[in-house]
Amino acid sequence: MTEVADQFTEERSGEVARITHWIDGRRVEGTSGRSGPVYNPATGEQSGEVDFASVDEVDAAVQAARRAFESWRTVSLSRRTELFFRIRELFHDHSEDLARLLTLEHGKVLSDAKGEVARGLEVIEFCCGVPELLKGSYSEQASTGIDVYSIRQPHGVVAGITPFNFPAMVPMWMWAPAIACGNTFVLKPSEKDPSASMLTAELLKEAGLPDGVFNVVHGDKVAVDAVLEHPEIAAVSFVGSTPIARYVYETGTKAGKRVQALGGAKNHMIVLPDADIEMAADAAVSAGYGSAGERCMAVSMLVAVGHAADDLVGAIQERLPKVKVGDGMNPDSEMGPLVTREHRDKVASYIEKGAAEGAKVVTDGRETGPDGGGFFLGVTLLDEVTPEMDVYKDEIFGPVLGITRVGTYEEAVRLVNENPYGNGVAIFTRDGGVARQFQFEVNAGMVGVNVPIPVPVAYYSFGGWKNSLFGDLHVYGPEGIQFYTQGKVVTSRWPDPATSKVDLGFPQTR
Ligand code: NAD
Repeated sequence: MTEVADQFTEERSGEVARITHWIDGRRVEGTSGRSGPVYNPATGEQSGEVDFASVDEVDAAVQAARRAFESWRTVSLSRRTELFFRIRELFHDHSEDLARLLTLEHGKVLSDAKGEVARGLEVIEFCCGVPELLKGSYSEQASTGIDVYSIRQPHGVVAGITPFNFPAMVPMWMWAPAIACGNTFVLKPSEKDPSASMLTAELLKEAGLPDGVFNVVHGDKVAVDAVLEHPEIAAVSFVGSTPIARYVYETGTKAGKRVQALGGAKNHMIVLPDADIEMAADAAVSAGYGSAGERCMAVSMLVAVGHAADDLVGAIQERLPKVKVGDGMNPDSEMGPLVTREHRDKVASYIEKGAAEGAKVVTDGRETGPDGGGFFLGVTLLDEVTPEMDVYKDEIFGPVLGITRVGTYEEAVRLVNENPYGNGVAIFTRDGGVARQFQFEVNAGMVGVNVPIPVPVAYYSFGGWKNSLFGDLHVYGPEGIQFYTQGKVVTSRWPDPATSKVDLGFPQTR
């Protein structure tokens, strides 16, 4: 282990660690007098206390980023590429350290945490190709002796506000393309699991990123509002729940910023009668309960068409007792705890609510899961869920999978298309023609055909429709590059002085 990783491990094994901001290339202790607890969800014990930034502290980070931008934007593309290759190597070498931090503060099992880091690394790898990504276009002789070309330039200081459920990967979706494009960055991570962003900061410094290019301010609404209102922040990326995404989009755009705000989800997986039921059941259990259902792309609602329903319920029910719930650090565990006690209790309350609304509780997660102080909840399966129930309408964000039964494919598609969310959706079938029709007519941003969690690879872009995204551009991939740059078109003439004359007419191209 290196110095950076040791430092974090020591903190974790001792007393409650103080988690500071990271401004201008160093840790900066907060002075606002406000802070929040960080827990190890597997034990329920407090492991850290994170400083909450004041308006002035956010401003200090922005000023550091503004100063750094002056020189960072002049760094050549070849140097930026070289640096991104180093960043890639360092994050790869420390992927286990990052994953351990995720498990210790978020609760997800270590194998899942490693998967998170690996998917984030793919975004960093994509950014190693930044010279190709920033290429403009050139039209020679657009008019006689006139050439026209386009270039893409960074905005300046940009910010990211991120959720608790992917404390390393979602920030990578933002800082990597933002910095590769020549911007400087201020990150406001989730206050529930903030340490991954501090390790990120240290690794970026070790890779040679100049001080001030990447900054971290922790906190709650005070810090978020300070970011949204800061006149020197040009663009904001947000990922989190729908009500806050809408607020961030409205407040940020009102302040003149470019904003992309990704919100919550209710992802449906349609299972047609001709589907391979065993495969669909494996997929439903993996996608419904992986990361304890705390994924924005988790399958939370199965739509079973026709006679698929009974077989599917039976096949899932068979698998559920085998799901091993436990401390994410234990290699045998397949599902860890939820992130906080409050969240666990809220998710558990939906089981009772579902039963009261008329859903059939096939498996009750309140009756399983390890004892002790951790925030555990076992897996729950609710059958006969109908669209007017809260367990159907709300994003539960926990290990509660619902099944709704419909008669036809058309009814299933209507359910998805009428849902206010439009993040991910999947269909399980053996019929290529139906799958193709589904991809054509379904209203969601990310579609899986026999793939339950269709998170796009790093060279496409990630984003939902409807209440799952506010803004025009999706994150990472080509749209991420577009988001973090602005276009400029240059019209240029190097005239022959011999042909120069006064002409007051409107410039024409022919
Ligand atoms: P959240 O909305 O509670 O928090 C997200 C961020 O907003 C955090 O940094 C938090 O500090 C801040 N925040 C919270 N309350 C705020 C307020 N009142 N004013 C200003 N800022 C505030 O989300 P979460 O619970 O951390 O994450 C889970 C949610 O994120 C789920 O809804 C999930 O679907 C969504 N999510 C969406 C995607 C996606 O790509 N669409 C990806 C991951 C998570």
